[in-house]
Amino acid sequence: LSVYGAPVIGKHGNWLGIIVVLHDITELIRLEEVRKDFVANVSHELRTPITSIKGFTETLLDGAMAEQNVLKEFLEIIQKESNRLQLLVDDLLELSGIEREGFDLHISKVTVAEVIQDAINIVSGKLIRKDMSIEMNDFSQITFEVDRDRLIQVMVNLLSNAINYSKEHTTIRINITESDREVIIEVKDEGIGIKQDELPRLFERFYRVDRARSRESGGTGLGLAIVKHLIEAHGGHVAVESEIGVGTSFFIVLPKGSEK
Ligand code: ADP
Repeated sequence: LSVYGAPVIGKHGNWLGIIVVLHDITELIRLEEVRKDFVANVSHELRTPITSIKGFTETLLDGAMAEQNVLKEFLEIIQKESNRLQLLVDDLLELSGIEREGFDLHISKVTVAEVIQDAINIVSGKLIRKDMSIEMNDFSQITFEVDRDRLIQVMVNLLSNAINYSKEHTTIRINITESDREVIIEVKDEGIGIKQDELPRLFERFYRVDRARSRESGGTGLGLAIVKHLIEAHGGHVAVESEIGVGTSFFIVLPKGSEK
């Protein structure tokens, strides 16, 4: 809170009173803290793979290269960490692009089914590797006005998470419902679940319940932040419900005709 006070003097120099301006800067301070946290997080996330790439390269150049199996193993680590850096930079650019004012959506009328099918095709490799399956209700007739590629990206992010945070041989359920004005997409998994007190922070940039597990599955910690931004850019909103050990449901609520 910043407080500013000034006397109010009348025409004849008489004292009329005092004017006090109270300015609530809590929100400004909070935003500044969020920004500082973000820079610290980005730096940390970038530093981890860079340190690893540097370390393994130096060890190789110091002589470890002579052994074929060590050479291959280290090069694979360097490749994995470079891929990680690339994903991270791609997601960061993506997020800053979406956050910029005047960010353009390319809206067209599409069927929900084609968006879902394209997203499933993209994650099909991961699905098969974990022997997981997807069940859906019948939504073949439902259409909405959205940015098709962005919506596919949202679905890929949600499905990837549902796969990453579930055990093998489990099922993901996609339920689509519609009302006059909205389409609701639910992605429900039978995965590890999320504690209630973690739920409010889930859509924050770099927020992860389990950092090690997220890294292991190739996550950048930015997926849900991107989902939230993209859906809000469409005039919609996101929600989540979860129970530890039972599973998680993510909901996307979209106006049928986009407001943009
Ligand atoms: P990440 O790249 O780490 O997956 P996200 O932004 O996509 O980042 O998700 C943030 C965090 O939310 C994840 O690290 C994970 O802890 C948790 N999470 C997301 N989706 C699920 C899910 N379906 N089941 C359990 N936890 C999840």
